[in-house]
Amino acid sequence: MSFKTLDDLPADLTGQVALVRVDLNLPMQEGRASDVTRVEAVKPTVLELSDRGAKVLLLAHFGRPKGQRHSTMSTSMVQGDVERVLDREIMFVPEVTGPVVEQALGIFRSGDIGLLDNVRFWPGEEANDPEFARGIAAVGDFYVNDAFSASHRAHASTEGLAHLLPAYAGRAMEAELKALDAALGNPARPVAAVVGGAKVSTKLDVLEQMVRKVQHLVIGGGMANTFLAARGVNVGKSLCEHDLAATANRIMDEADHAGCTVHLPYDVVVAKEFAANPASLRTCNVHEVAGDEMILDVGPQAVEALGDVLKTCRTLVWNGPMGAFETPPFDAATVALAKTAAALTQDGSLTSVAGGGDTVAALAHAGVAKDFTYVSTAGGAFLEWMEGKELPGVAALTK
Ligand code: ADP
Ligand code: MG
Repeated sequence: MSFKTLDDLPADLTGQVALVRVDLNLPMQEGRASDVTRVEAVKPTVLELSDRGAKVLLLAHFGRPKGQRHSTMSTSMVQGDVERVLDREIMFVPEVTGPVVEQALGIFRSGDIGLLDNVRFWPGEEANDPEFARGIAAVGDFYVNDAFSASHRAHASTEGLAHLLPAYAGRAMEAELKALDAALGNPARPVAAVVGGAKVSTKLDVLEQMVRKVQHLVIGGGMANTFLAARGVNVGKSLCEHDLAATANRIMDEADHAGCTVHLPYDVVVAKEFAANPASLRTCNVHEVAGDEMILDVGPQAVEALGDVLKTCRTLVWNGPMGAFETPPFDAATVALAKTAAALTQDGSLTSVAGGGDTVAALAHAGVAKDFTYVSTAGGAFLEWMEGKELPGVAALTK
């Protein structure tokens, strides 16, 4: 995979206007961002361009305004949070094209940073309208995409602009693409994939891809129940998609043909009611689940065996928790396996890449997110990448 980075730009960018696509779609609580991870992610790119003398215009979406202005979805809502994280004053520009943007640039000095309004206020954004993209591009000298998490969409600000201006990957995008390539593009073998979470139906394409690409496929979480049931195991009241039995069996057959070993739990943690530390909690063999019990986590013996599998592997891709980790003690398998993966990564024997909304939360809960080689916070884009899809925003940078 080859793409241009900020290293391919002249060292001195004085007088040049950089149009930088960032992800500022921050979760909000009482008018303030409750999590600024996305701003921290783009900080190196924005400050580097500013320090090198460019006039920086930030382009972002915020919420789902569907092509119309909504005062509550203006990017000005997050201006304060962006200023605080960047530790710079920035100017809010209530447009993305036209004279207002030109006037703002007219008073900008070298290194100044501007925040354009929500690019999704204009229908041309999601339609990837070339006319709209040309309007944005008109004021820029080059385009930087630092929003991997938005790059599974072929929108004007994520894809269209890359065809109109010299296009570069920002530092966060660069790190993400390198990590993802190391995990599945050209990985050191053997490769293990851990796929967990709630339902098979939401991750069919991920499973199909993993079977083809990895040597070990660990299936955990609620989706393991569907696979166990397909093999004739009685899973009681567990979350289970019985109608997907044939699909699960086909995936296991495909794995057989591809030389991929599928690992299903052989002991599990069950309870009669889904609550924290329930009285009915017990650990048992998968063949001993009673009709009124649910499987809520992978058991300790299986976790130990999975740890041994990881010790033989060089690369790990992880999406989806092993159990209902939000409710103790059903976080035990996820936490234990995450700690093993983190330790192997720190020892230098494993390259570990993880992603997915709940997976990121689970790894943070386990306290090991920083010990993985890379943790992607790009939920949808990460999954599409695991599904083997080409992401339009990435493709536009790499072609
Ligand atoms: P991600 O967001 O990382 O892609 P998912 O959304 O697919 O992950 O799945 C996460 C959810 O799966 C969590 O809310 C977790 O509680 C649930 N889950 C995991 N194992 C089980 C289980 N055995 N029974 C019910 N829910 C489960
Ligand atoms: Mg989720």
